[in-house]
This record gives sequence, C-alpha cells and structure tokens, in this order.
Amino acid sequence: MAITEDFERSSGLAAQAMDRMLSERLPPTPENFTLWFVYFSGRNPDLTRAIDLARRDGLTTSQTLCDELYKRFFTLDAEAQAIRETSDKARYALGRILEQLGNVGSETERYGNALTGFRDELDQPLSLPELRAMVAAIAAETKEIVDRQTALQFQLQESSQQLAEMRVSLDSARREALTDGLTGIGNRKAFDLMLQEAMEASVRDEQPLCLLMVDIDHFKAFNDTHGHLVGDHVLKLVARMLTECIKGRDTAVRYGGEEFAIILPRTSLANATKLAEQVRSFVGARQIVNKARNANYGTVALSVGVAEFRAGEPAMALVRRADQALYAAKRGGRNRVMAETA
Ligand code: GH3
Ligand code: MG
Ligand code: MG
Repeated sequence: MAITEDFERSSGLAAQAMDRMLSERLPPTPENFTLWFVYFSGRNPDLTRAIDLARRDGLTTSQTLCDELYKRFFTLDAEAQAIRETSDKARYALGRILEQLGNVGSETERYGNALTGFRDELDQPLSLPELRAMVAAIAAETKEIVDRQTALQFQLQESSQQLAEMRVSLDSARREALTDGLTGIGNRKAFDLMLQEAMEASVRDEQPLCLLMVDIDHFKAFNDTHGHLVGDHVLKLVARMLTECIKGRDTAVRYGGEEFAIILPRTSLANATKLAEQVRSFVGARQIVNKARNANYGTVALSVGVAEFRAGEPAMALVRRADQALYAAKRGGRNRVMAETA
C-alpha cells in the first residue's frame, strides 16, 4: 500500500514538474527536473520559499534563476567547493615545487660533476691559458648554479605565497559556511559544532550547560501583514538583540527560519530560565520601526524553551527537550518561557 502511494505521489510530482517546465518554456534537463520535483514535494522549505518569493517579486522563473537555485540547493556548499578548488590548486603548487626541487637536484649534480672534472684536470700540469680558461669555466658553472638557486628561491617564495592565500580562502569559506547569510550570526551547522564542543566541556569541567530554543510568535502573520522584507529585518534585529543579551562564552545562532538557539555553558537551569525571561522581555519591548518610511510595525513576541544537558546524552536529546519546552510555551499561550520538567 505504502509503495503504491509512494509511486502515485512521485508520479504526480513528476507530472507537475514536467508541466511547469513546459508551461514556463524551461528545457526539461535533469537539473530543472530535480528543482521542480523537489519544489512540488515541499521537501526543501527553503527552496520552495526562494521560488515563491522570486515569483511574488515578479521575477519569472528564467533559466538563469533555475541555474542559480540549482547551484544553491543541489550542488556542494561553499565550504566543500572551496576545499575542492583549494586542493586542486595545492596539488598544482606542490607539483611545481617538487619539479623545481628536482631540477635543482639534477643541476647540483651536474655542477658537482663539472667540479670533479676540473679537479681531475688540475692533477695534470696546465699552461697559463689553460688554467685561465679553467677558472673562467668554473666561474661560469658557479654563476649558473647561483642563478638557478636564486630563481628557485624566488619560485619557492611565490609558491609559499600561493599556499598562504589558499589558507586564507579556506578560512573564509569555513567562516562563510558557519554563518547565516541573513542575520550574520552562526547557522545550524555552527550550532551543531558548538553544542558538541559545549557538551564535551560540560562533561570535562563538570559544569552545567543549558540550551534555549527561541521562536518568534505568529511570525507568519507578521510577514503576511507587513511583507517578508520587514520580516527579514525583524530576523536581523532579533539576532542582534539576542547577541546583546548574552556575553562571554554564550552563543546565539539562527537555528532555521524564525527559530534561534542559545547555548549557555556553565549555566544552571534556574539561571538559564532567568536569562530566557530577560531575553523575552527585552525583545518583546522593542518597537520595530522604519524611520525612513516613518512606519511602526509594533513588537514581536518570543516563546522560549529551556533545557539542561544531562551528561552522556546525545545532542539530539537535549535539543528535543528544549523543543518540547518551547512547544509547551506555545501551547501555554505563547510570549513566555518554559523550562523542561524533570
Ligand atoms: P508560532 O507562533 O506557532 O511559531 O507561529 P509562526 O507563524 O511563527 O510559525 P510557523 O511555523 O507557522 O511560520 C513560520 C513563519 O516564519 C513562516 C515563514 O514565512 C517565516 N519565515 C521563516 N523564515 C523566514 C525568513 O527567512 N524571512 C522571513 N521574512 N520570514 C521567514
Ligand atoms: Mg514561530
Ligand atoms: Mg517556528
């Protein structure tokens, strides 16, 4: 039964994808097909949103847009791409260095052989012109090898400069891969890494660790009323305010959509709950305005779930409990903080 349903559903999605490509006169390439199949499946909400927004903004789904979206959602992320490019470049640079060293090796050997030849000649009685010619020849050989060494030094400097540049571009790709494009704070990937580190530190130092899951209330309605550009502005503002509320070793990230997470090392459940309450009231009190347009969009409210790490549990378990507390806050009427119940 389930298989039949799967078959029916995916055939339906395939037909929808095909129809859309034909009606928009997009060539039915594998890339376009993938894009539209996934769009209709709703499996990737970010992709669906990106296409819907483009259409709402009056952009036609041109091939250029499809290419860009395909690249963004289905090809390697920035980090993986940088790694691939950089390892290609590094392989080339190392090849060149080895080649240069190899050349110098054979040059040095040749020079050594030439000197040995001269030494053997010196064992014979030589006339003055012969001796003068030999000294000139040694000088010429020596100059050649010095020139070679200088060229090598120059080439090695160049290669090491290239390697340094590669390191910088890898670092910046890594930073980019961990940063949320809209708000500039850490993204989900950064969250996963930092939570893991924080959990390890908590066990090692025998210190408590708490997690806040923060979700903007009725944000869909806010977007619908004021438009998604104002919504985006609110997300940036909330990200900034969360960062302002925390300090030191605490980290705020955008977990996804209108949901944020705050990692609080060395913090008990009671203190984390207090901080969550401060965050909620600080953000909730902020009037969202656009001075240029002389517009006031009112305020946004937050619901927050708080959970404390239990040594030995996987990250997922902690996130799930904080999420459950968040949903308890939603069910309890929103605009509130709920701590996990033991
Ligand atoms: P709740 O109080 O239950 O959390 O209601 P909600 O409307 O906030 O939650 P829901 O999950 O129904 O909708 C989340 C909304 O967040 C839908 C989507 O339009 C909006 N959203 C998610 N990501 C972005 C974004 O990057 N920019 C903007 N402007 N809106 C976003
Ligand atoms: Mg919400
Ligand atoms: Mg949400």
